[in-house]
Amino acid sequence: MQEKGTISIHTENIFPIIKKFLYSDHEIFLRELVSNAVDATQKIKRLATLGQYAGELGDLTVEVAFDEKKKTISISDKGLGMTAEEIKKYINQIAFSGATEFVEKFKDAKDANEIIGKFGLGFYSAFMVAKNVEIHTLSYQEGAEPAIWTCDGSTEFEIKKGKRKSRGTEIILYINEDSEEFLDKWKLQGILDKYCKFLPVPIKFGTKSQSVEDGVDDKGEKKWKSIEVDNIINTTSPIWTKSPNDLQDEDYLAFYKGLYPMGEDPLFWIHLNVDYPFNLTGVLYFPKLKNDFELQRNKIKLFSRQVFITDEVKDIVPEFLMLLHGVIDSPDIPLNVSRSFLQADGNVKKINNYITKKVADKLSELFKKDRKVYEEKWNDIGLFVKYGMISEEKFYEKGKEFTLLKNTKDEFYTLDEYREKVAATQTDKNEQVIYLYANDVKKQDSFIDSALKKEYDVLVMDSPIDNHFIQHVETKLEKTQLKRVDADVIEKLIQKEAAYANLLTEDQSKSVKELFEKAIQNKTYTVEIEGLNPEEFPVTITMEEWMRRMKEMAQTGGGPMSFYGSLPDSYKVAINANHPLVDKILKAEGEEEQVKLAKQAFDLALLSQGLLTGKDLTAFVKRSVEMI
Ligand code: ADP
Ligand code: MG
Repeated sequence: MQEKGTISIHTENIFPIIKKFLYSDHEIFLRELVSNAVDATQKIKRLATLGQYAGELGDLTVEVAFDEKKKTISISDKGLGMTAEEIKKYINQIAFSGATEFVEKFKDAKDANEIIGKFGLGFYSAFMVAKNVEIHTLSYQEGAEPAIWTCDGSTEFEIKKGKRKSRGTEIILYINEDSEEFLDKWKLQGILDKYCKFLPVPIKFGTKSQSVEDGVDDKGEKKWKSIEVDNIINTTSPIWTKSPNDLQDEDYLAFYKGLYPMGEDPLFWIHLNVDYPFNLTGVLYFPKLKNDFELQRNKIKLFSRQVFITDEVKDIVPEFLMLLHGVIDSPDIPLNVSRSFLQADGNVKKINNYITKKVADKLSELFKKDRKVYEEKWNDIGLFVKYGMISEEKFYEKGKEFTLLKNTKDEFYTLDEYREKVAATQTDKNEQVIYLYANDVKKQDSFIDSALKKEYDVLVMDSPIDNHFIQHVETKLEKTQLKRVDADVIEKLIQKEAAYANLLTEDQSKSVKELFEKAIQNKTYTVEIEGLNPEEFPVTITMEEWMRRMKEMAQTGGGPMSFYGSLPDSYKVAINANHPLVDKILKAEGEEEQVKLAKQAFDLALLSQGLLTGKDLTAFVKRSVEMI
């Protein structure tokens, strides 16, 4: 039996196209060939289970080996093998139907990127690194003849009778000059570690022979001997393939350590397991968050039937859960498609929703099970929850039940609980409930103090996401406004009917305003005279809530908001008309003295907010010393 033929395809030579466009990463040839070997092995096992194969299964280990001198890499399995007819059917025709389609589309495609990777040519990826490929195979079927297929990367192939005596297939690649980097133990080891670490069939990788020390000879020189070095490189049943009932916390933690040897222990995890309407398994971990959380993205690994595919899961996992770690395994995620295609894929959408729901359920469960523990972990989980609530409406609906607000006394409240807490005291005359918050409790201490004196509560909103979270929550909660404690004097933040009246005459108010303007001499500050509680500070410097928010958004967002970023800072200087100091300034002798007192009062206000620095601070200290 010997046959030559031409692979039926319109294009003279498909391989340059494959090479150039199909796979950006040449290394995946190994993933494709090893997973074919694994598939063939799984199939023979299945046939045996079904009683359709009565022979011995024997050792089913898949072997990957290379030979530096012959410049070959071989992948061999003891799977079901192929007859010559099957080679023609599965290798020549089936694979090339994909290729034909590829070439058809390629002809008209405007953008090559559009089609890259749309067609998985599995076996043919071998030609990305090989100038010649041989298949030596013997089918499990009774009376089957061994066959050898060879192809040099043109559309010509040859099938002849082979010599193989045992069931299975060996693929031999004759590596081309450009790809000799792959004839290296560490290189191959690395690729296998990346893609094949969790394949369901044992994979052996060896250099076949290696020199090792073998004692010393008569002259005292080291002796060497050649041994065969092989080792199994994979775990065949990683934890995500097991039932959660069979696993202990230690198993999850050990698996985590295996994936991220440098990482700290995770906070908790979710075992995903669904088979309808799509198939998905996996374990997602919540890591302890570091401030620099950008670095922690892209930690989720995507597998398809235990074959590693990518750690770019951007379109499969909801954006806000990109901070999670772990693995997802789904044969239902289309792999060889472009990103935009992926986003439109129905299964991907369902998977996305499923993960979102699972995460929400887990958080809700933790919250209900042990509130105390949940609160302790809030610093780490809060970011996910807030991010999720902002970016996914569905998650907001669930998250509002278990998102927590923390106040300056380190007490935690859910959204509903908090409303109940402050509604009575912090409703202003317009029926708006005002939530006060600080983002820097040290800097805003004097403001927090004024609020607490009035029996108001102050929230701490100091995480990087809080600006956006505040904005979002405000649109969701009815009749509610969030105001930073230093956005105005406390009487103005929560305006009640019985505000203090300004006891100064109009003339007095006018001259106080002028004195302060002379003292400050800076357009950034707008002076306003207000009738406040005489117990409050004489001078308070604030930046309006909306203005500050716009500026903050401009800093993080850019775009149309950046206009606000370019505005100069503008502060309000509230002078408490009812404070005794104002009276003292009015009565002081000579304008020079009056301005000096005003300046001193203004600097004190700056000082209390950490705004007084450099030369101004030095001048203030000098002036204070003189005055004493
Ligand atoms: P896919 O794996 O997606 O079917 P491939 O191009 O990787 O596509 O392989 C084409 C076909 O060739 C496989 O479906 C299988 O029938 C056959 N095949 C490839 N490798 C082997 C192997 N090692 N043993 C048996 N059959 C194989
Ligand atoms: Mg394949």
